[in-house]
Amino acid sequence: MQKIRHFRHYGQKLLNNLSVSGQMTISIPFFALWLGGGTIIACLILFSTWSKHPAPLDTVQQTVNSLPVAEAPAIKAVSKKPADKWQQAIVEKGDSLARIFARLDISPAELHNIMQSDKAAQDLKRIQPKQEINIRTNNNGEVLELLHVISPTRSFSAQRDGDTFKTQFVERDTEIRTRHAFGSIESSLFLAAQKSGIEDAMIMDLIGIFGWDIDFALDIRQKDNFTVLYEEVFIEGEKIRNGNIIAAEFVNQGKKYRAVRYTDAQGHTDYYDENGRSLRKAFLRTPVAYSRISSHFGKRRHPIHKRFKLHKGVDYAAPYGTPVKATGSGKIIYRGRKGGYGKTIVIRHAGKYSTLYAHMSNYKRGLRSGQRVKQGQTIGYIGSTGLATGPHLHYEFRVNGSHRNPLRVRLPEARPIHHKYKQDFIEKASGLFAQLDAISNSMIAMNNP
Ligand SMILES: [Zn+2]
Repeated sequence: MQKIRHFRHYGQKLLNNLSVSGQMTISIPFFALWLGGGTIIACLILFSTWSKHPAPLDTVQQTVNSLPVAEAPAIKAVSKKPADKWQQAIVEKGDSLARIFARLDISPAELHNIMQSDKAAQDLKRIQPKQEINIRTNNNGEVLELLHVISPTRSFSAQRDGDTFKTQFVERDTEIRTRHAFGSIESSLFLAAQKSGIEDAMIMDLIGIFGWDIDFALDIRQKDNFTVLYEEVFIEGEKIRNGNIIAAEFVNQGKKYRAVRYTDAQGHTDYYDENGRSLRKAFLRTPVAYSRISSHFGKRRHPIHKRFKLHKGVDYAAPYGTPVKATGSGKIIYRGRKGGYGKTIVIRHAGKYSTLYAHMSNYKRGLRSGQRVKQGQTIGYIGSTGLATGPHLHYEFRVNGSHRNPLRVRLPEARPIHHKYKQDFIEKASGLFAQLDAISNSMIAMNNP
């Protein structure tokens, strides 16, 4: 789940310190792990509760280490109390802590006490569906401890301290391991992926990386093969999910494409080839994901004017309301009706490029002239405003103000690695490319005895 995407910075550590294991992934339902993980947190917190100095914990490891030996007997004494009881509630849609307390038959006065304890207790106002709330009460029904499992790595705890509560956030250690997978295509890419043990989501990532060079709908052939080096995220020995693809190779019809993930010192991440060129292009080839081309660029008889004239763009037919995407990042320089074009947006991009999107039924809400948009961002919806025979997008691509065929024009590449980071990239990437070579060579040898 996206909540734990902030592990990304571990990628850097990884690039320095790679070890490859030849095994394939075993996929375990994420939610089961989360729940299981929650139980582990609960146990660890139970354990740490009796430390008199539960200083802010960076990792659970530290918690355990900081437990004063002299207090060990206290642990035994507390854990023997039979009347203490843990209850668990899973947050439901529209839930509040007040409702959860009622469900567990705990007095609302107890909740009031916890909320009054300190600022950190405000965390409890941000509970989300499917999260876990664990509460320990004594035989008088007083809350001794409350644990809110925020994510597999982070939880919030409030522990009774006389008449008030001590609160803290607890973090668990994460570890990134590297795995690799190899697949050779017999019938389809997805079958090959399944056979090699990698999940569909990762295949989609792979398509995202190489989709600029390979048309995965048309170009894939038998004996094409791929090698992927990827991360797995572990929390205290348990695999939580797959991480990023850190290097990949795709051999398509004998031609080899390779990419390495690199994050520069400014935090900009992309996939690059051996020369530090981005695999992405500055423009998407088409502004409408699911569409068919209903009219090409060039001379044609105009369907309404019935005269031959130059069609200065490409028409994409798609159902009314289909999202239209900005093909490149840039600034909106026009948004409004434009004669026969109907509702139109014009975007100016870096350098000499601009794009135009016409006949839309509507603009994306909140989008104004002068605003910046990112590549792939939805800017409007398919329609038939202006002079149009049916719902379609009329799309124009201009270089220095003159119209070009968007399907033929050589698209500029996305930003390459900045020269400042080139040396760093080469150092980190060369090891990864060598690993890709080693894996694919040995796998190919194994597959062709
Ligand atoms: Zn057109």
